[in-house]
Amino acid sequence: MNKFLIAGNWKMNTTISDAENLTNAIIEKYKNTNNKVKLLVCPPFINLSAVSNIIAESTILLGAQNCHWEENGAYTGEISLNMLKAVDCEYVIIGHSERRAMFGETNEIINKKLQSVLSNSLTAILCIGETLEQRESGRTFDILAEQLEKGLAGINMEQSKNIVIAYEPVWAIGTGVAASIEQVDEAHNKIREMLVALFGDVANEILIQYGGSVNENNSSELFSLKNVNGALIGGASLKADSFIAIYNNALAKV
Ligand code: PEP
Repeated sequence: MNKFLIAGNWKMNTTISDAENLTNAIIEKYKNTNNKVKLLVCPPFINLSAVSNIIAESTILLGAQNCHWEENGAYTGEISLNMLKAVDCEYVIIGHSERRAMFGETNEIINKKLQSVLSNSLTAILCIGETLEQRESGRTFDILAEQLEKGLAGINMEQSKNIVIAYEPVWAIGTGVAASIEQVDEAHNKIREMLVALFGDVANEILIQYGGSVNENNSSELFSLKNVNGALIGGASLKADSFIAIYNNALAKV
């Protein structure tokens, strides 16, 4: 497909001044030479507004790491899609494994969030991935199928155009040990097959990112794979040099 989305998930990192400094450093190094490669930053909620102001005149995109599915109301501590749209967020990460494991997010909750993201005309990055135990017991593809089918329940072919899938094996996130190129290739090809089974040929256009210890050294090989259409990056997205080096590796493929 030859299109890439390079996304930085800053997680619970950066104060407001850290976020401003990081964004300025990214902008300084970023040269947008081809719109087939998009760059997205997903800061913590509290820094969205400041980052939004800094990137306003650039082609860098803004995303959130989570959202609530309701429009407003008595949901203490939560953030709605209206609030995210007001600061020009265009993407929302949904179902990150940290939210599944630490905050009890089920496939059903994730589906409600995804539906809400799409009905608000934003793009959802749906994270899926197996744990080490699930991989070692040979259940990887069953888990991926279940996360896709339940996470995408009720989504039609037209809506699928506003979905990105991030394949993130849980055991590769933040460990410094990325999945092997063969494991990524096999999983992404399988995910593509599953998406085509769900949505038909339009699913050939759905971007499938890989996430899990992506860095400037391993990203080029990953981006050579047919069904790897970008990366969701944690640790390396907090360093402007590394983040832009990964972006440039994608740029070299188009
Ligand atoms: C992530 O946060 O989704 C992630 C993949 O983290 P890291 O790149 O640090 O493994």
